[in-house]
Amino acid sequence: MNSAHQPPAPPGSAPPSEKNLRHVARVRDAAYRATRAILDGDQSLPKVVQVARRAYALGRQYLPAGQLAFAPIACAKGCAWCCSQAILLSLPELARLIGELRLSLGEGELTALRERASASALRRRTGGPGAADTTPCPLLAPGCACGCYEARPLVCRGYNSVDVAVCEKIHRGNDEPRPYIPIVEQVYVGLASGLGAGLRQAGLDDLIVVLDSALVIALGDASAIERWRAGDREVFRAAMIEEALPGYQPPAVDEMIAQLGWGSMTR
Ligand code: SF4
Ligand code: SF4
Repeated sequence: MNSAHQPPAPPGSAPPSEKNLRHVARVRDAAYRATRAILDGDQSLPKVVQVARRAYALGRQYLPAGQLAFAPIACAKGCAWCCSQAILLSLPELARLIGELRLSLGEGELTALRERASASALRRRTGGPGAADTTPCPLLAPGCACGCYEARPLVCRGYNSVDVAVCEKIHRGNDEPRPYIPIVEQVYVGLASGLGAGLRQAGLDDLIVVLDSALVIALGDASAIERWRAGDREVFRAAMIEEALPGYQPPAVDEMIAQLGWGSMTR
């Protein structure tokens, strides 16, 4: 894998077709309307978490079943060859993830996770060329599976392949393209964009953060997400893209967002 990780078309991939763009615009609109409706008059933490849950449900609803019947994706729970990239996510997604982790892990496990996240964040930031995309996700559980699969971010849901053997070869250093289904990633781009627009409309910050750095902050300070909700984005300063991934290049997904007139997802 070769780009800092977003719901993303890899560099050099073909631009989305007109048909796909129309579908993604519908997805984006659905996520925007759902986010607005959930937050209307109540922007409490449970509502913020509900925004992420709803986006995940919309993802399943808007996946192109007909297309997937002809080219089934190989992704499945437990498959993790792609889990070494920098993961970007919104604050509702982080809130959903932290809630799940606090429910499922004990204090000792949360401390160990925070230490892994801290080590990952440091390596990703200072490990030199390639470190951003070759550092294992701190949520990888022993045996190399996602330790929080049901609450994984949008970007992880959209990233896909039709051939796990190729994913393994890429993970081991082979420089070859990942065979994937673009519309699946594009659906998740639309969801992320609609969610961000809905947050802004509700007066909340559409901040995008880097997962491992954000875990360090949110697991170390139980009030961090509440402070973001109250308008304090500085609490996540160290997890912002420019701090956590210096030299980061906006992924190709930004070109598609711009094409749709939606601005940038990673501003
Ligand atoms: S993209 Fe590849 S490595 Fe990642 S879950 Fe899908 S098949 Fe597995
Ligand atoms: S959150 Fe889970 S699915 Fe996403 S990169 Fe980390 S381990 Fe993989």
